[in-house]
Amino acid sequence: MKFGGTSVGSPARMKEVARLVTQGGEPVFVVLSAMSGTTNELVEMSNRLYKKNTEGAHEIIDNLEQKYLVHINELYSTEEYRHAMRLFLNERMNYLRSFTDDLFTSFEEKNIVAQGEILSTTMITNFLCEQGIKAALIPALDFMRTDKNAAPDQFYIKEKLATIMTRQHDKQVYITQGFICLNAYGEVDNLQRGGSDYTASLVGAALPADEIQIWTDIDGMHNNDPRVVENTAPVRQLHFEEASELAFFGAKILHPTCVQPASVAGIPIRLKNTMQPNAPGTIINNHLEHGKVKAVAAKDNIIAIRVESSRRLGSASFLRKVFEVFESYQTPVDMVATSEVGVSMTIENTNRLNDILDELGSYGSVSVERNMCIVCVVGDLNRNTLGNIALITTAIQRIPVRMISYGGSDYAISFLISQDDKAEALRSLSKVLFQNKES
Ligand code: ADP
Ligand code: ASP
Ligand code: MG
Repeated sequence: MKFGGTSVGSPARMKEVARLVTQGGEPVFVVLSAMSGTTNELVEMSNRLYKKNTEGAHEIIDNLEQKYLVHINELYSTEEYRHAMRLFLNERMNYLRSFTDDLFTSFEEKNIVAQGEILSTTMITNFLCEQGIKAALIPALDFMRTDKNAAPDQFYIKEKLATIMTRQHDKQVYITQGFICLNAYGEVDNLQRGGSDYTASLVGAALPADEIQIWTDIDGMHNNDPRVVENTAPVRQLHFEEASELAFFGAKILHPTCVQPASVAGIPIRLKNTMQPNAPGTIINNHLEHGKVKAVAAKDNIIAIRVESSRRLGSASFLRKVFEVFESYQTPVDMVATSEVGVSMTIENTNRLNDILDELGSYGSVSVERNMCIVCVVGDLNRNTLGNIALITTAIQRIPVRMISYGGSDYAISFLISQDDKAEALRSLSKVLFQNKES
């Protein structure tokens, strides 16, 4: 069971988490995010240290400490636990204060942002113990590790976790930190923002669990982005591939890569709402509802790059050379479209954009468009399910489309449009695809 930031965002919410994890009677492994807002504060603290503003960084620590002191008073009922937790908080805050602007790199930043999950897991484990529940804190840094490519080392995670679990076999609730890990060099690192979902899926696959539950602040995956479109509805069931596409193309409820470990292990993922625990949520498994369009997602801040070859594309090595440029700058390409004269691609990561554009220049004329958005429609879009693609393109007929991608999978069609047109595109797709239809 994984609980996100809002789900552990206050002492009252933490008490509800304690209730939910103990109600089933079976042993449960729990993955927790930091309390909502905390990771952002820690990122901001690091930004201030990068800018040599130590005083500003300390201001953030002081405010955090005051907030957590209030939470501690509210969460525990005994002075014994309040005292123990205050000592722990004080030690963590002094650790944060030990960072200065002398030498501040991403190494220091990662140690700082890890503290949010370390605090929330310690608070809830202690609360469960205060309630007389057999709970154990299993530090993520003892088993969660990435390899030299920054990908989780699933073999290591499985081995380590198995050893830990045999030693700790008599507990009711096992708790660990989402998001944080060690990297291949043994340094504290993380699985990127929103990465606690990924931790949950990796742990669920490694144990293995019967089911992976992602508890958040909404009743499952909705058929469109609820932050942009009104009257979205929960989708009750998704195929692993459908959920992967939605997560990758911007449905924030799931971290982009978190479906993969569960899908490989064949373990269903259930999305549940902490605010309405009895709502059915969404189940993600191997079942595919034939011919059905399930949901729409969108991803902002996309850059489109077009390279037009001075020669005909018939030159067999043109595409290889173009893609090697992206590979050499470790920049993944999301969408691709080719024609006789050139190729268009999209990227999200702009860290090496200037180098990439410089090198691409030697293969043809290069143009760039920023502030683009990928809109992705997901469902059973197999070529034999006639009619869906026509319906989707009709829905966005008034919107200028820069690229289309279909055929990379049977579960998605993606369009590249300007970010300014996103809201209209999403609303129009909802109207045509889902209005007056049961999800
Ligand atoms: P947590 O802190 O629990 O990880 P997140 O904020 O990361 O929660 O994800 C939940 C949020 O994702 C929802 O509150 C909602 O605003 C947003 N969201 C975006 N697209 C979707 C979607 N298709 N279905 C459900 N929620 C979505
Ligand atoms: N606390 C981390 C974040 O805010 C990880 C997570 O919540 O999933 O990004
Ligand atoms: Mg999240």
